[in-house]
Amino acid sequence: MFKNLEHIGIAVKSIAESNPLFKTLIGEEYYKTEGVESEGVKTAFYDAGNVKIELLEATNENSPIHKFIERKGEGLHHIAFEVDDLEQRMEELRATGIRLLNEKPKEGADNKLICFLHPKDTNGVLIELCQEKPSS
Ligand code: ZN
Repeated sequence: MFKNLEHIGIAVKSIAESNPLFKTLIGEEYYKTEGVESEGVKTAFYDAGNVKIELLEATNENSPIHKFIERKGEGLHHIAFEVDDLEQRMEELRATGIRLLNEKPKEGADNKLICFLHPKDTNGVLIELCQEKPSS
């Protein structure tokens, strides 16, 4: 089961250039920016009420975000659902034949463990599952 829609990821060429627009739309500045080095992305998070908006900017040419923008241009990149037990959900989905883009939970932004599902198996929508990192 999904708990809730956690955030919506939008690929942008430049967070700095997109920020005035999103500030106007949402009515508030992003509340944090964070880099995810392993993914080659910089992120900015906005609080949009029941959901967060995550802007994603590539930090290098090998970044999946760079490739996405080259292919499709800026725009909706993924939707992220929160789950209670990421590893268990991954196991259950794998058993149904849905392909996962990472075999193990990986570190995402915003203190999350994440996993992406293969968009070819989910009607062309890139879906992220995320779980708050257990505090150690
Ligand atoms: Zn995300």
